[in-house]
Amino acid sequence: MNNSTKQNKQNSNLDKIVSLCKRRGFIFQSSEIYGGLGSIWDYGPLGSQLKRNIKESWWKKMVLERKDVVGIDSSILMNTNIWKASGHLENFTDPLVECQECNQRWREDQLNNKSCPDCAGNLSESRLFNLMFKTHIGPVENSSTPIYLRPETAQGIFVNFNNVISTTRKKLPFGIAQIGKAFRNEITTGNFIFRTREFEMMEMEYFVYPDEDETWHKYWINECLEWYKSIGVNSKKLKVRQHDAKEMAHYSKATSDIEYKFPWGWGEITGIANRTDFDLKSHSNASGENLSIFDDKTNKHLTPFVIEPSTGIDRTIMTLLFDSYTEEESINAKGKSETRVFLNFTPEIAPVKIAVLPLSRNESLLPLSNKVHDLLLKSKIIDGSIDFDDSQSIGRRYRRQDEIGTPICVTVDFESLNDGSVTIRDRNTMLQNRVKIDNLELSILKQLNNNTQ
Ligand SMILES: [Zn+2]
Repeated sequence: MNNSTKQNKQNSNLDKIVSLCKRRGFIFQSSEIYGGLGSIWDYGPLGSQLKRNIKESWWKKMVLERKDVVGIDSSILMNTNIWKASGHLENFTDPLVECQECNQRWREDQLNNKSCPDCAGNLSESRLFNLMFKTHIGPVENSSTPIYLRPETAQGIFVNFNNVISTTRKKLPFGIAQIGKAFRNEITTGNFIFRTREFEMMEMEYFVYPDEDETWHKYWINECLEWYKSIGVNSKKLKVRQHDAKEMAHYSKATSDIEYKFPWGWGEITGIANRTDFDLKSHSNASGENLSIFDDKTNKHLTPFVIEPSTGIDRTIMTLLFDSYTEEESINAKGKSETRVFLNFTPEIAPVKIAVLPLSRNESLLPLSNKVHDLLLKSKIIDGSIDFDDSQSIGRRYRRQDEIGTPICVTVDFESLNDGSVTIRDRNTMLQNRVKIDNLELSILKQLNNNTQ
């Protein structure tokens, strides 16, 4: 492929996914009826369920299945002194220009010419740049202290350090995890939900003995990679990239990104930073509260180092959409070749797990179809969203379920009325299996477990 063909293919894949997301109800432009709002998106019925499944999978692996991690849910609005101590106020108020190719930001007064020193890309106009959204608290706008929407969830964890230790009695090493929204007034946005101004993060601060930081840094890079594999991301499209010194955040000793190979190039989906004791020490100094932990080994207080795996949920969704999008030539019922599109979601992640489809809208099929739907809705062994659809021809309904990534369709046909059986259709192979309704839950469970991909 030459470059322009390649570029067209990349754009067309992104266009196809954006269009599928809108058409099927994954992602809509925010405030669409008023012309939208720059780089802000809404999740529809399927997108919100997909997002929920991703968060639950992460929480299960990082918190529930571990003995050494607890969760919190801190507020978005916090005392402005937090952002002073963390360095966020100071570090984002220089006149900055941003490279439109590699997104690195540069101090304009330190540049020799008008292109990016690193990649020669075009630079944005300079502005006094504060990445944080400013707002105010209380009824009077003028006299109030400005406060900020958090640009990361991490600070809510650091400032609750003593609260968590005194209530959980955790000893090193241990982690505090949090899922929540964060806001950054990015200069450069784009590529759909890859870079947005409002986004959701899954973060953990994992506190360790200072001399064990590098071991734990490696450990968490690996755990994050394993999680991506467990939700079905092709590991050949994942890589770990270490930041060099000049792109590291002000608090970081070492940062590694997990990147995914998007059609337009490698993009960061998780950052794993060694934030050292920077944050706990800064907050101890600024607040006067001693944020340290008593160490039984030495009988002294020490300030732990912290390793921070930080994952963008929206970017994870973007990754899953690209990674699972599959086009396949197939022969339809009329013997014609057509392109079948399906999303190859794992059952754990798929927004709809099972769809119950009466073969036609014939009224005689309805009572049994409803009975099968109820059986699955109330099942104690199958969880997740169960769809019911009798709207169009069966071929079109299969196509819809394939496009939204539903692993299994259960079809009730006229034969079912006599033999008490239904067919189970597999999304990837399109193979159909006839099973007794009495055994339906177990048969489905077996098939879902076989098809973890
Ligand atoms: Zn650049």
